[in-house]
Amino acid sequence: MKRMIALGFEGSANKIGVGVVTLDGTILSNPRHTYITPPGQGFLPRETAQHHLQHVLPLVKSALETAKITPDEIDCLCYTKGPGMGAPLQVSAVVIRVLSQLWKKPIVAVNHCVAHIEMGRIVTGADDPVVLYVSGGNTQVIAYSEGRYRIFGETIDIAVGNCLDRFARVLQLSNDPAPGYNIEQLAKKGEQFIDLPYVVKGMDVSFSGILSFIEATTEEKLKNNECTPADLCYSLQETVFAMLVEITERAMAHCDKKDILIVGGVGCNERLQEMMRIMCSERGGMLYATDDRYCIDNGAMIAYTGLLAFAYGETTPLEESTFTQRFRTDEVHAIWRDKKELASVTGIDEPGDKIEENQGSGSVLMVVPGSFSHCVCLYGKQERKLREWSKLWVVELPDVTSEIESNTHPLNRLSMESGNQCNVYLDYTVVQNFAEVIHVPVKIMLLMKECSSMTVVDECDSKAAGSCDYVP
Ligand SMILES: [Zn+2]
Repeated sequence: MKRMIALGFEGSANKIGVGVVTLDGTILSNPRHTYITPPGQGFLPRETAQHHLQHVLPLVKSALETAKITPDEIDCLCYTKGPGMGAPLQVSAVVIRVLSQLWKKPIVAVNHCVAHIEMGRIVTGADDPVVLYVSGGNTQVIAYSEGRYRIFGETIDIAVGNCLDRFARVLQLSNDPAPGYNIEQLAKKGEQFIDLPYVVKGMDVSFSGILSFIEATTEEKLKNNECTPADLCYSLQETVFAMLVEITERAMAHCDKKDILIVGGVGCNERLQEMMRIMCSERGGMLYATDDRYCIDNGAMIAYTGLLAFAYGETTPLEESTFTQRFRTDEVHAIWRDKKELASVTGIDEPGDKIEENQGSGSVLMVVPGSFSHCVCLYGKQERKLREWSKLWVVELPDVTSEIESNTHPLNRLSMESGNQCNVYLDYTVVQNFAEVIHVPVKIMLLMKECSSMTVVDECDSKAAGSCDYVP
């Protein structure tokens, strides 16, 4: 079989990278170039975009040369659609459109955060971990459930990397190779712990107050010889990393997962890895982390994630190959993970089998062939609009009546909290009625525990597809 190859572009922040990968995760090339500003300065969108424009084409050339491939061999072109800074994102989006038309290759738009996760999973072999995604622009605790990477906790203001970078500016540390790296080195020399605000709010964290505090007090503390810059770097790292460990541990307990994967630029920090490793081993789990080749933004992670989606039939039409500064991790339907799970399900029988005896003992999968745009369902007394439909809709009913009534099933709470997602909990009769009302052919399947067998329990066919308002 011919190997599938993707060319991927990353340019959402101060790095422009072009990578070539195959579907098994082999990186054939992954060159990148970083825009480095003088000490005390951050990077601004316009200058960063100019930097990317200047380097992107030489990078494409070198990526193809190192990978020893020609454009003919490429199956799809992947790029970061978002999140990130607008002007730098635009560079990849424009280049990809041109190349797509020039080489007649399909486009796949990729979410930057999801790409970090998939790169981390393939590099470390972590199968289903709780993910801590920490970088200059993002701080999120994520776990996969029901087709999406759900966010369990996150920063309510600035990212942890941004907090560290901006403190590096206060100390006038170099931005080469990265401000966070230089804080980490200096922190190793810290001897005294300085008390800083510790801000965890439920599952979320906040860093802007800590930054304001340390920005406002640093000059005086250093002038009075109360502490050294190294002490401050050490104390800042200990404080903000402890906050991250706390919310990650809580997410692990909530999802009942043992392993952690750290991704994103701050994920290279060895002290953060050490603290996470201790917590993880106390819970009998493993910490998976990558080094700076993978956890810092690069083109290969975009190429690999795009190729996963492409392999399951997803492409982005030219007119939709836009970019966006705001693009949340849980907006992406991780179709490749769904399919993997479905592929392990065997033994699909004919309709009409064993409904009574199996009801309540497993979960019900409702598979909707095709998709439709608008539908209103009722969950208890709460109306939920399902704006986004996927081809596969999973309704999980571990205990049909009691848990629905009492609203205690954890996935139930998840979907309540996360807004407009597709999980809806209905009892079997409702599912059956629903199938008739939505006017699309529906197969209701009973998925036995352990996912070992799947039985088609009913099939409803109807002619007209369309929207509906449904009241049980
Ligand atoms: Zn990143």
